[in-house]
Amino acid sequence: MVRTDWTREEVAQIYNKPLIDLVFEAGRIHRENFNGNEVQMSTLLSIKTGGCPEDCAYCPQAARYNTGVKGTPLLNEEEILMSALAAKANGSSRFCMGAAWREVKDNRHFDQVVSLVKTITDMDMEVCCTLGMLNEHQAQRLKEAGLYAYNHNLDTSPEYYEHIITTRTYDDRLKTLENVRNAGISVCCGGIVGMGEQETDRIGLLQTLATLPRHPESVPINALVSVKGTPLGEQEKLPFWDMLRCIATARIIMPRSMVRLSAGRAEMSLSEQFLCFLAGANSIFAGEKLLTTPNPEFNSDKAMFELFGLKNMPAFASCEKEQVEA
Ligand code: SF4
Repeated sequence: MVRTDWTREEVAQIYNKPLIDLVFEAGRIHRENFNGNEVQMSTLLSIKTGGCPEDCAYCPQAARYNTGVKGTPLLNEEEILMSALAAKANGSSRFCMGAAWREVKDNRHFDQVVSLVKTITDMDMEVCCTLGMLNEHQAQRLKEAGLYAYNHNLDTSPEYYEHIITTRTYDDRLKTLENVRNAGISVCCGGIVGMGEQETDRIGLLQTLATLPRHPESVPINALVSVKGTPLGEQEKLPFWDMLRCIATARIIMPRSMVRLSAGRAEMSLSEQFLCFLAGANSIFAGEKLLTTPNPEFNSDKAMFELFGLKNMPAFASCEKEQVEA
């Protein structure tokens, strides 16, 4: 049963179960709702890097931090299409384009993104964008171009949010999610753990996601990759077991969503990734970079899939589509 009325106490109870029971329960629910042998490979390309006016404390692309990330203009169409073709050839069924913008502006850059969405959708890939805040009209334009999903993360709990970002509010984020949802685009929304938050904040983030009017069809769970020069550059790494609890809890309270093992995977051992898949993660990002931070390469992921007996999930195979169209 898909519930959107979880209380914090209920989510805390699940999160704090004995770890072995938590992972077992999540794995059971995963297999009730998905083929447990299938994992979706997605590719995320930064189509416009750096120079962002926002102050997200974790982000090397914020212009105000000295992180060595070189700002680039929007990549040209050909480069982006080549990258989408390579992603497809390497087994990715989802292609996500990320731009370091505060919000989408109605200009020629957005026109270019809209046209790319159409072209890549015609290649039979799920196309996702993450372009910052979006109004209703812009969401509608992307939908008409065939956009499958839009990513906009809540990042952390409502209570901890002001420690991470001050240049836009939690409500701004919720408004963008509403615009995306109302346009009939699949919602990709998750957060980042290991930013110095308390366990109650991780529970708060998960409960907020699971009590949106509809669950996001895709829930990326990121572990902070701390980058020197950002306010979180010296942040101590979150123990893996807390990340595992987040993944398992997300799977239990949002049983039909894709749970994406996202940033931070490069720092995980194979055994740790194995546990994440057992606990219900069913998507990863492929490719050597995740926006600007390191990620495992295609070949090592292929070897990992073989070792674990996993198969690539084809495009449009998850139950996301049914949910969007329901
Ligand atoms: S996370 Fe996105 S909005 Fe925040 S600073 Fe980075 S690029 Fe800008």
